[in-house]
Amino acid sequence: MRVLGIESTAHTFGIGVVENKKILVDERIVYKPKEGIVPIEAAEFHREHSAKVLQKVENKINFKEVDLIGISTGPGLPPCLYFGLEFAKKLAAKLKKPLIGVNHCQAHIEIGKTLTKPKEPIILYVSGGNTQIIYENKGYKILGETQDIGIGNAIDKLGRAAGLSFPAGPKIEKIARKGKFVLLPYSVKGMDLNFSGVLSESIRRLKNEKEEDIFYSFQEVCFAMLTEVSERALAATEKNELLLVGGVAQNKRLQKMLKIMCEERGAKLKVVPKEFAGDNGAMIALTALVTYKDKKIRNETEVRPNWRIDNIYK
Ligand code: AMP
Ligand code: MG
Repeated sequence: MRVLGIESTAHTFGIGVVENKKILVDERIVYKPKEGIVPIEAAEFHREHSAKVLQKVENKINFKEVDLIGISTGPGLPPCLYFGLEFAKKLAAKLKKPLIGVNHCQAHIEIGKTLTKPKEPIILYVSGGNTQIIYENKGYKILGETQDIGIGNAIDKLGRAAGLSFPAGPKIEKIARKGKFVLLPYSVKGMDLNFSGVLSESIRRLKNEKEEDIFYSFQEVCFAMLTEVSERALAATEKNELLLVGGVAQNKRLQKMLKIMCEERGAKLKVVPKEFAGDNGAMIALTALVTYKDKKIRNETEVRPNWRIDNIYK
C-alpha cells in the first residue's frame, strides 16, 4: 500500500511517500523566522511553498499509484493546521483517494519505531512544542511531561536571547562544547518537568557571563532532568529499552547522557535517525498507514490544535 503524508503543523511543510513502511520520498521546506515563529506567517510560508514541494514529490512518484493520503491534524498551530488540511483535502479530491487525519506526536514515535525497531520501549519525545515520557499499552500513556514549555522551544528562546536564529538547537549544541558548568535551577516534580525557571535564569545570566558556559550548563541541567525522568520510567515499568524521538533527539549530548543511564541499568537506547528526527511528511504517511490498518482508531479530518497523544484510543 502506498501512502502520501503531509506535515504542516508548525515550522515545516513536508510531503513524504511510503510503501508498506518503506520511505520512498521525503521532501520538505522549513520556515526559519529571525524572531520566534509567528503562526500566520508560518501558514503563509507553507501556502507559498506547498506547490513547489508537491512538484518535487510528483517528479519522483506517480500519483496514480498513491492509495491513501494522511494529514497531521494536530497538535499544532491553528493557521498551519487549517492550511495543511485545506491542501490535503484538495489533493485527496484531485487524486480521488481517501484522506485520514493523524496525530503529529504519534507520527514522531511511529517513524522512530519503524527505523530503529525497538520491542516495547519507553519513549522520550522531545521536540519544539512537546516534551513527554510515554508508555505504549493499548494506546499511549503519558508518564511525565513538561508543565510549561517544550524543551525545543526553551532552547530556541535561549538562542534568540543570545541573537541566534531559529532553530537554535544545533548552534547552542556546538557553542556549548567549549563551556564550563555553572549552577542553574533544576526542576523535576515527580515525573513532570519545568523549563521556564532554568530558561529565565539562563537568559538573565547571559548578560554578564560567558555564553558558552550558560549554553553548556543549560543543556546539562535540562538534559539531566530528562534523563532522570526517563530512568524512573524505565525502573517503574521494568522496561529495558528507551526510544528517543523528536527534533531535539539530534542532540549528541542528550544522546550521550541517556546512553550512559541506559547502559548502567542494562537497557538499550534507540535514537531516531537524524534526518527523520524533525518534522517531516514521511512520518505522517507511516502513521496514516498504521491508522488505516487499525480499524479501531477514530479518524479525524477536522483540525485538533490541542490533540493529546493520550487521547488516541486503540
Ligand atoms: P521538531 O519540532 O520535532 O521539528 O523539532 C524542532 C526543534 O528541535 C527545534 O526547537 C530545534 O531547536 C530543536 N533541535 C534541532 N536540532 C537540535 C540539536 N542538535 N540540539 C538541540 N535541539 C535541536
Ligand atoms: Mg514535531
